[in-house]
Amino acid sequence: MAKFYCEYCGQSYSSVHLLAQSVCPKNPNGGRNHKLYEGSEKSQYTCKYCGHQYSSLRLMAGSICPKNPNGGKNHSPML
Ligand SMILES: [Zn+2]
Ligand SMILES: [Zn+2]
Repeated sequence: MAKFYCEYCGQSYSSVHLLAQSVCPKNPNGGRNHKLYEGSEKSQYTCKYCGHQYSSLRLMAGSICPKNPNGGKNHSPML
């Protein structure tokens, strides 16, 4: 079954609808909801800012990006 991941926090949902309706604890843009990660599922996710690699979006979301240019604190996965 397909899984849909939040780009910010790595939480997975069984439908896009559910994901979009739930509150994201890590949304850096002042919004409250999760944002769909539109890339494919991978064995390694690379941060587009610093190039760090993580084995899951969840792990990536759990650490701070030293190069995030938006004043946010989190890594952001490349698609
Ligand atoms: Zn989220
Ligand atoms: Zn990063």
